[in-house]
Amino acid sequence: MPLISRPFPITGEGNEHPYDLLIIGAGISGLSMAHSAAAAGLKVLILEQERQAGGCLHSHRFSGELDGFWLELGAHSVFNSYGNLLAMLEAARALDRLRPRVKVGFRMLADGVVRGIPSQLHFSELLLAPFRLLGLKKAGRSVADYFGRIVGPRNYATVFEPAFNAVICQPAGEFPAECLFNPRPRRKDFPRSFTIAGGLQTIAEALANDLPVQYGQTVQATQQTDEGFSIATDDGEYRARSLCLATPAAEAARLLQHDFPELSAALAQIQTAWVESVGVAIPKASLKISPVAGLIGRNAAFYSVVSRDTVPDPAWRGFTFHFRPGALDESGKLDCIARILGLPRQELTNVVSKTNQLPALRVGQSDLIGAVDRALAGTRLALTGNYFTGVAIEDCVTRSRTEWERLRRECG
Ligand SMILES: Cc1cc2nc3c(=O)[nH]c(=O)nc-3n(C[C@H](O)[C@H](O)[C@H](O)COP(=O)(O)OP(=O)(O)OC[C@H]3O[C@@H](n4cnc5c(N)ncnc54)[C@H](O)[C@@H]3O)c2cc1C
Repeated sequence: MPLISRPFPITGEGNEHPYDLLIIGAGISGLSMAHSAAAAGLKVLILEQERQAGGCLHSHRFSGELDGFWLELGAHSVFNSYGNLLAMLEAARALDRLRPRVKVGFRMLADGVVRGIPSQLHFSELLLAPFRLLGLKKAGRSVADYFGRIVGPRNYATVFEPAFNAVICQPAGEFPAECLFNPRPRRKDFPRSFTIAGGLQTIAEALANDLPVQYGQTVQATQQTDEGFSIATDDGEYRARSLCLATPAAEAARLLQHDFPELSAALAQIQTAWVESVGVAIPKASLKISPVAGLIGRNAAFYSVVSRDTVPDPAWRGFTFHFRPGALDESGKLDCIARILGLPRQELTNVVSKTNQLPALRVGQSDLIGAVDRALAGTRLALTGNYFTGVAIEDCVTRSRTEWERLRRECG
């Protein structure tokens, strides 16, 4: 993995506010906030604890005999409905690197057996779905309540709930319906679903390349001062007039505890869902299973398996298993992967892993975020991330855009 790092001076005496805006976190939320602010001429710096940009955009690039092959350990797909993301990629001159995803179907691992999804549907129950949809509002309803009413209880339990769990990598039943599948206009000049050369982390790298990012800087504390904000990392102190937190909600709650206790308490209500992701690369010739976009797990140790068959490689195939937290130990995960792929376990030699976190949103989310936004109004503190309107990449970019517009007004 390339180390992208640029030296930036840590603030010193007589250099009170060298930055207009400090941003904590170089995931897609922080990068998109920085992109807007830098384009408007602000002096921006991003502080990132890891040695690379991306956060949940994490494409493992193999070396040696697998040189050139990559696997997604986090997000895997972007869509032509991600208009704000596409506009940003256009400005970063990265559109020519986009690659369409080949159309292959999803299948389901239902109670230990791989099956086609249509075979699991109860069509008689689905017949009335269009009528049940009429007048049904998402607001105030959970995914289980809203979608269960539409597709019927048996379809929900056997197909839709496992599919929604797979989409948001967590138990989806209590997630707010209004935070899932919100319609957005599609840009017909792009394929419906696509990725980018080298995997989705390339998006983060393309953006980070044009921005000042200080890597390996874990922010330990933030403090509001008379002139703005002071930020402490393991290495020193940074100061700026404005501050944007683009970290997971729990980390934002921790960092705001001292100076913004009400905001911190609101953010602390957002729970975290953990996902244990394990990717494997296998020589094409070793596998008998036909091309597949992925597997949805029903009563399985994993929410989903996401395959690289959507971006085929001449020699290798790859699969990332997104395991439920704590369901299996490391050895159990490898046994599970070997069984599903129909391989002896000793053939799993190219194995990589990452623990991901996502917000476990709940009904009442829009009220919670309303309170957060009211507390932010009039301040030069900005919050962005995947815990506002939804967890999709486009939700993050859209939040950053609207939060940037507010911050710009606050800064006059
Ligand atoms: C397995 C998985 C699959 C997904 N698939 C898709 C998909 O196909 N399509 C889609 O649209 N979305 C998908 N998503 C969701 C989407 O990827 C995420 O919601 C989004 O990337 C989150 O971006 P973010 O910048 O808000 O947060 P993150 O990506 O979590 O970034 C936060 C950053 O802040 C840094 N940080 C945290 N604390 C500190 C600190 N104290 N100091 C300095 N740095 C700090 C972290 O290191 C990290 O880089 C998926 C998510 C997961 C986990």
